[in-house]
Amino acid sequence: MLEVLNYINGRYLPAADGGWIEDVDPSNGTVYAQITRSGKEDVEDAYQAAKKAFPAWSQTSQDQRAAIMLKIAEGIEARLDQLAKAESRDNGKPVSLATKVDIPRSAKNFRFFAHAITQFSTEAHESVGNNSINFTLRQPIGVVGCISPWNLPLYLFSWKIAPALAAGNTVVAKPSEITPMTASMLGEIVEEAGLPKGVLNIVHGLGPEVGQALVEHPGIKAISFTGGTKTGAILAATAAPMFKKLSLELGGKNPNLIFADCDREKMLRTTLRSSFANQGQICLCGSRIFVERSYYDTFKQEFVEAVKTLTVGHPADDVDLGAVVTKEHQEKIQAYIKIAVEDGGTLLCGGRAVSVKGHEGGFYLQPTVIEVPSNDCRINQEEVFGPVVTIMPFDDEQEAIALANDVPYGLASTVWSNDVDRVMRVGKKLEAGIVWVNTWLNRDLRTPFGGVKESGVGREGGLEALRFFTEPKNICIQYNN
Ligand code: NAD
Repeated sequence: MLEVLNYINGRYLPAADGGWIEDVDPSNGTVYAQITRSGKEDVEDAYQAAKKAFPAWSQTSQDQRAAIMLKIAEGIEARLDQLAKAESRDNGKPVSLATKVDIPRSAKNFRFFAHAITQFSTEAHESVGNNSINFTLRQPIGVVGCISPWNLPLYLFSWKIAPALAAGNTVVAKPSEITPMTASMLGEIVEEAGLPKGVLNIVHGLGPEVGQALVEHPGIKAISFTGGTKTGAILAATAAPMFKKLSLELGGKNPNLIFADCDREKMLRTTLRSSFANQGQICLCGSRIFVERSYYDTFKQEFVEAVKTLTVGHPADDVDLGAVVTKEHQEKIQAYIKIAVEDGGTLLCGGRAVSVKGHEGGFYLQPTVIEVPSNDCRINQEEVFGPVVTIMPFDDEQEAIALANDVPYGLASTVWSNDVDRVMRVGKKLEAGIVWVNTWLNRDLRTPFGGVKESGVGREGGLEALRFFTEPKNICIQYNN
């Protein structure tokens, strides 16, 4: 059986205690690989390798670091098909999505930060009269930890590793134990690209074991984490006594505000994607749809009709939705659909598991739309993270803003309207780290990415990521005239 091994100090090797975790193919429910189950000892080995590699890597010029990272990007692109198939099998997402989005974006993450680091510089402040000049160095932190989730496996893994390496840190990284396959393949790619041994170390295993050991490790000075809000709170509590630097990208319950004056054709097409892309398992999916009352009935009819045309099937086929990630996740999503109906919601379409011929053990679900009586119901307040959206009407702009903000989360919001004054008024009042207007998931990697409230602390992307992965040091020199 296929084995997923740690990559420490440039070598693939199993965990010290020899345990394994099953890796399940969501498209058919069978175990197809085993993942080495690491513990504290393996994290310590990875840390020691990273610590040893730090002095040389941090002193490697930005140009040289950039050149290696560009080769990593090329290595990912050269294996596009292989990585996309592996990602699809591990996660259940359509292979077409992995080929068009996940894997190209993973390469782009390395390419973007390779270029960005060569532009990352400092400003000087001269105090005239006092004969002094201040300037701020941005120095690498040392050994840093990166922990990523299962929904966009290589995409988010590389989104953290690339800025960490570009800034001159060495890394101990832990991918999700549910989807470790493409992260594991990255070891081979970085080696081919000439990344020195020990600069990137990949340790596989369970969150409360490997993840916890990373956060608890006194030598690992910063952790970049993407995952659930509850896990983020555990990390924050663990890291607090050590004053460890944390970036937390957490859950979302994103509103999609649709005003009657929008470009309806574009909005409908985009809302189908923002609701069901990757089986609705993207932190940025717009899971709460609010529609201006004058347009509500028409929207409801057209949207539900469009949702019914979406295809669900084996991820290797040409389908809109593949499988959700695990059996437990499928059951959790179904439980939320039941709760929504018990809370007075009306199931407009979907709601059931799908049996795909020849792959009956897979974890498939129909795309689901529920009309809810209020924003207070549990399905509108808690993250479901599946192919389920709710819809309800609003009467005016103030109500739309209030509904959008009435959740513990604040990651992303979308506003659909052709009235520029309105989108400015609404956009400014939305409690969210990201507001899209007449578009969705339109990402420029230079912009800050992250959420407010229970969606997280800190920002990734562009300069924000390079700032996170460096320590500022101000130097003040007084000179004699
Ligand atoms: P999760 O929190 O269960 O796991 C995320 C990672 O943390 C995994 O690698 C896991 O092994 C590890 N982990 C678990 N317990 C840990 C612990 N005690 N200490 C350290 N590490 C631990 O999340 P998930 O189910 O993999 O991912 C889904 C969640 O991620 C959703 O809530 C989604 O919204 C969120 N997400 C957020 C963003 C964002 O950018 N804000 C992006 C993608 C996903």
